[in-house]
Amino acid sequence: MQRRSLLSLAALPMLHAASPAAAQATTAGGGRVHTTTTPAARLHSYISPAAAAHVAAHVIEGPTGLVLVDGGWTPEARQDIRALLTSLGKPVQAVLLSHLHPDHWAGLAAAGLPEVLAGPTTAALLQRAGPAMAAAQKQPTTVPRVAIQPPGPLRLAGVDLLVSYVADTEAPEIMTVEIPGAATIIVQDIFYNRVHAYVSRQLDAWIAALKGLESRGPTTFLVGHGEPATAREIPRLIAYLETIRPLVATGTPNQAAVVAEMVRHFPDFAAPDLLALSLSRLPPA
Ligand SMILES: [Zn+2]
Repeated sequence: MQRRSLLSLAALPMLHAASPAAAQATTAGGGRVHTTTTPAARLHSYISPAAAAHVAAHVIEGPTGLVLVDGGWTPEARQDIRALLTSLGKPVQAVLLSHLHPDHWAGLAAAGLPEVLAGPTTAALLQRAGPAMAAAQKQPTTVPRVAIQPPGPLRLAGVDLLVSYVADTEAPEIMTVEIPGAATIIVQDIFYNRVHAYVSRQLDAWIAALKGLESRGPTTFLVGHGEPATAREIPRLIAYLETIRPLVATGTPNQAAVVAEMVRHFPDFAAPDLLALSLSRLPPA
């Protein structure tokens, strides 16, 4: 197992650490790949550079294949994810899409992975709003074809998974994928780890969902923006959402003033442009 871990990671340039349990590599496109070996699966998290809001995609590597969760945003991310999948040398058995935002699916068409499993709300919203989202991307892309995945246990690539849906957080519906044999949950955009958030009008439900994650005991969270995290990083995001809540509570917020205030409060958070983008699209209170 150790030999295999090292060999496949060696396909990625600039190996920083070579522990068989956890390793990090820098990608050609300036992103990073974290790899963790667990009893149930190897887990690879691709994290794009700050210019792409550290958006993350994850690969669950089981004995018989790969499961990709989300598909990257920029052309660099598409190439990096493709290189990661190729380096692992196993077939992609399924692509799971966490939610409707195009920073998580714009790369799939170019990677030749146009079909995804997603939740019913995400499927309906993509059908309605997806073509306009695709047209607004800087690079050509198409909306993924969605087959609806019911919540519950799911076995893919020889790995037992548990799919759940969380409503009204950063997006109307976000899929979470638990890997019980790895004490890990892929929670995507419910959890921003030291990255400015794409804020919604559902801040109370979002904070409640984070408190639910916090109470789960020792768990690794693979997040939608930023590095893999533990529950220790959750209070920081709750504080972020509690700080922005009064700033966007009434009328149409002054976008530049809100961004400046949040940068002042959270100077170590990356990608304030993502916050600015969300404020420009926030429906009036
Ligand atoms: Zn996102």
